[in-house]
Amino acid sequence: MTCKSTSYSKITAALIDMDGTLYNSMPNHARAWKTLMDEVGIPTREEEFFLCEGATGAATIDRMILRTWGRHATDDEKRELYARKAELFVQQPPVKIMPGAQELVQALHSRGITTVLVSGSGQNSLLNRLDVDFPGAFPIERRVTSASVAHGKPAPDPFLRGLELAGVAANQAIAIDNAPLGTTSAVAAGVLTVGVVTGPIPAQAIIDTGVHILYNSMNECAALLPRLIDKLNSIYLPISS
Ligand code: CA
Repeated sequence: MTCKSTSYSKITAALIDMDGTLYNSMPNHARAWKTLMDEVGIPTREEEFFLCEGATGAATIDRMILRTWGRHATDDEKRELYARKAELFVQQPPVKIMPGAQELVQALHSRGITTVLVSGSGQNSLLNRLDVDFPGAFPIERRVTSASVAHGKPAPDPFLRGLELAGVAANQAIAIDNAPLGTTSAVAAGVLTVGVVTGPIPAQAIIDTGVHILYNSMNECAALLPRLIDKLNSIYLPISS
C-alpha cells in the first residue's frame, strides 16, 4: 500500500465504483463489447475494453467508430449499439459479487459512513441487483450512473455529482475505483482516491493517475481501508472554512 499526504477532514462518505469494484463484471462487459463490435465489423481486442472501463457506453461506441470509420457516432448509433451491447451482456454467465466488496461496504456502514455509487454504467441488469446484494447501501437517490452527468469518467463530473448526493465536501470523502479512467475522475474531483487492482489492468496504470492509496484486491481493501479511515478520522479534525 502507498499513501500520499494531502488535506483531509473527517471522512464521512465513500464514493464507490460498480463494475470491477463491487462486481466482477468486467470480463462479461469485455466479451459483450467484443461480440458487438464483431457484429458491426469494427476490429477490436477483448483486452482493450478493460482499459476503457469506466467510460459511458456512448463514449466507447464513439471512440471505436471514430477510430475505424473516421467519423463520430450518431445519436441513433449510440442508442442502438448500446441497447444491443446490453442484450449481449445479459446473455453472459451470471456476474459474481467481487470478493471483499460486501465486507467493505458493511465495514463502512458500521462506521456511519454514507455510501454513494459512482458508475459510468447504464446496465440495469446490474443496477437492479444492488438493493439485494448491498442492502441499504446504494438507494436510487445515492447513485451516479451514465444518465446522471453529461461528461463521464475520466472527467471529474461523476465524482463531483457523488459528493453532491452525499452532501459532503471533497475532503470529507473517499473514492474507490478499479480503473484508470475512474481514478483519474476521482483525483480530479479532489477526493482522497483509493485504487484497487481487481483484473488485468496493471497496478502501474492506476498509480500513474495519481491515486493516494492502492490495494491489490477488494479483499485487501476490505481488510485495511476501514482501519485506515479510523486512523485518519482520529487524527484529522474538521477544517473550518
Ligand atoms: Ca470500474
